[in-house]
Amino acid sequence: MNPIVEMDGDEMTRILWQMIKDELICPYVELNTEYFDLGLKMRDETEDAITHQAAAAIQRLQVGVKCATITPNAQRMEEYALKKKWKSPNGTIRGILDGTTFRTPIMVSCIQPTVKSWQAPITVARHSYGDIYQAVEMHTDEPGTAFLRFVGESGKTQELEIKKLDGPAILMGMHNKEQSIRNFARSCFNYAISNRQDLWFSAKDTISSTYDACFRDIFEEEYQANKAQFEQLGIHYTYTLIDDAVSRVMRSSGGFIWAQKNYDGDVMSDMIASAFGSLAMMTSVLVSPSGAFVYEAAHGTVTRHYYRYLEGESTSTNPVATIFAWSGALRKRGQLDNNAALCDFADKLEAATLHTIESGVMTGDLATICTGSANKVDSLDFIRAIARQLS
Ligand code: NAP
Ligand code: MG
Repeated sequence: MNPIVEMDGDEMTRILWQMIKDELICPYVELNTEYFDLGLKMRDETEDAITHQAAAAIQRLQVGVKCATITPNAQRMEEYALKKKWKSPNGTIRGILDGTTFRTPIMVSCIQPTVKSWQAPITVARHSYGDIYQAVEMHTDEPGTAFLRFVGESGKTQELEIKKLDGPAILMGMHNKEQSIRNFARSCFNYAISNRQDLWFSAKDTISSTYDACFRDIFEEEYQANKAQFEQLGIHYTYTLIDDAVSRVMRSSGGFIWAQKNYDGDVMSDMIASAFGSLAMMTSVLVSPSGAFVYEAAHGTVTRHYYRYLEGESTSTNPVATIFAWSGALRKRGQLDNNAALCDFADKLEAATLHTIESGVMTGDLATICTGSANKVDSLDFIRAIARQLS
């Protein structure tokens, strides 16, 4: 195989990472990776240069697999005696690749989605730039008038009155960039084509006739550019009002990609994850408009389990999303290089994982929501059961 970028991480997921490689990958694949340790200790030692190096390697090699990592807060600053409160590696990598994150639940027959009609996974594509996440806000304390003002580099200005206010009020100024929206749309159309799935995009263009309408129009332009390929593959693009999308999703059978603005995607991806079963069964892939792919689990480093692990207790942490991050990356490498054996291995690894759960062997989080009989095992025994299936 050609190399992929391997990004190691923190805590319990770092332990799972090694187990997965030892038991499920290295015995079967002549694994070729460029390894970057994005564990918090190494990020601190290298002043986060390691994260930037990993991002550069992804741009070069096009495929990466990432373990969950700690995003430091005040408590972590103390725990790891950090030089600085380093930024989220995911945020840094996303910023460099300008990518969109697609989250897809992994379904097994013994775990029923809360929504009865859902038969296939729904993938949420969340725009991860701008809107309220990069807004400025103001709280005023007297009557007055609020304006929206833009000063162009040419000196030209545009100004709108927001509101004459008769008392204290709150204000917010947010933005998005045409280029970022276009990159988001391109990532979504590329992903829909690569997965041969329908694409929905929803916004509130009836109320927001400039802002949300701009998203709608850019998506429409990108659709026109991809229309022939969509028709050839027999897949469809639909724009619909967010309210309509929400109600239609609840009656759908699933199996499509739902592209959403930043806030909608933030909120709806949590609903989709829990309604399909568990965050531990949610995969995530970052797709850049230039065609780079970074696969990871959607969950974090599972700190509570790690502290129990350090005490010598056996933990039943679910490795499925991390296994699927590996299979996703290996399959993508195989597809890009016409390496059929590598794609075949990725398929078999996923099938062995699902079959193990469906045969009743699973981690604790799944045992509690499983409809059939469940034999709860610890992480290593679960991974070894998958290895037996795979063999
Ligand atoms: P978390 O690691 O996702 O875990 C939250 C809880 O969800 C766990 O305590 C566990 O519940 C359950 N859970 C999550 N994944 C599981 C799995 N694979 N198997 C079984 N149970 C699982 O979130 P967090 O505790 O809020 O964050 C921990 C650290 O992860 C933080 O430092 C955060 O910065 C980082 N984080 C990283 C990423 C990323 O790298 N993409 C994403 C999110 C968070 P029970 O304890 O009830 O069993
Ligand atoms: Mg959220």
